[in-house]
Amino acid sequence: MTNPIVRNKCKNCGDTKIQVIVKGRYAWAEHCESCHAECKKCDGVGYLFETDEEGRENAVPCDCSKIDFRISLFNSAQIPGQFFDATFENFDVKGDPSLEEALETASFFTRSYSSGKGKGLLFMGGVGVGKTRLVSSILRDFTLNRGVPAKFKEFSSLLSEIKTGYDQGLSESAVLEKINTIEILVIDELGKGRKSDWEITILDSIVSNRYNMKKATIFTTNYTDKASTTYGEPVLIRNEKDGMKEKIKKETLQQRVFTRIYSRLKGMCDFVEMKGPDQRYPGHELSV
Ligand SMILES: [Zn+2]
Ligand SMILES: [Zn+2]
Repeated sequence: MTNPIVRNKCKNCGDTKIQVIVKGRYAWAEHCESCHAECKKCDGVGYLFETDEEGRENAVPCDCSKIDFRISLFNSAQIPGQFFDATFENFDVKGDPSLEEALETASFFTRSYSSGKGKGLLFMGGVGVGKTRLVSSILRDFTLNRGVPAKFKEFSSLLSEIKTGYDQGLSESAVLEKINTIEILVIDELGKGRKSDWEITILDSIVSNRYNMKKATIFTTNYTDKASTTYGEPVLIRNEKDGMKEKIKKETLQQRVFTRIYSRLKGMCDFVEMKGPDQRYPGHELSV
C-alpha cells in the first residue's frame, strides 16, 4: 500500500532541498545534507549560458540559484532559534476558533501579498498563545517559499540596536533608514519597554515612515483592546503604610502606545486577537 511518490521523497527535507536548524540565537537554513548534490545543470556555478538569436552568449541564473537566494533571505530574517521549525502546517490551533482564524489570516496574508500596498497585521493576545510562533511561520513562508525579503525584530532589541547605532556615530535617520526599507518587518513584543518619551518617539517614527512608504509591518503584542484581557505588568509602588509593594498595572494597547500611534496602527494593520483555550493573563487574578 505504499505510495511510491511519498516513499521517494527526501525524509530530511521533503524535497525542498533545504533543511532548517538552530545556529546561535537564530533559525538557520542550509542545503539538505541528505539530498543536496552539486547541480548537474550548471556544475554548481549557479548560472548557465544561453545563446540568443544573434549568437551572443548570455548568463542566466540556473534554477539552483533560486534555492541559494531563498536560503540567504531566510538567514537574514533572524527568526528566533526557538521557532526554527515553525510553519503554517504545524501550527497548533488547539481547536480554538480565534487561533484558527489567526492562522488563516496569516496564511492568506502571505498568499495574497503584493509589494507596495502597505497593509500589515497586528496579533494581540496573552503570553504563550503562539503569536511569535505564528509570525515566525509567516517569515518562513515569505522567505523560503515565496522569495520575499522579511525580517524579525524584537521591539526592545530594535531599540538597543538604534542606541548602538548612535554609539557608532550613525545618525538617527541613518539607523531608521535601514529599518524602514525592509520589505516585510515583524516587530515582536510591541509595547514592551519603559515607555519613555524616546521610545515612543522612535516607535512613532518607524510606524509613520513605514505607513507613508506603504511597507507592510507585522506586530505582536501582549497588550489588547480590553482591560479584561490586556497584559498586566508587575510594578513596585511605594506606599506610606507598607513600604514597597508589588501591584499589577494594566494598560490597553491604546494607553500603552498613545492614541496617535494606535490610530496609525489601526490604519495600517488588520488587528487579530488570539485567545487560545488555556490562555493565561499574567496578574489576571490580582487586583489593579
Ligand atoms: Zn533532502
Ligand atoms: Zn544549477
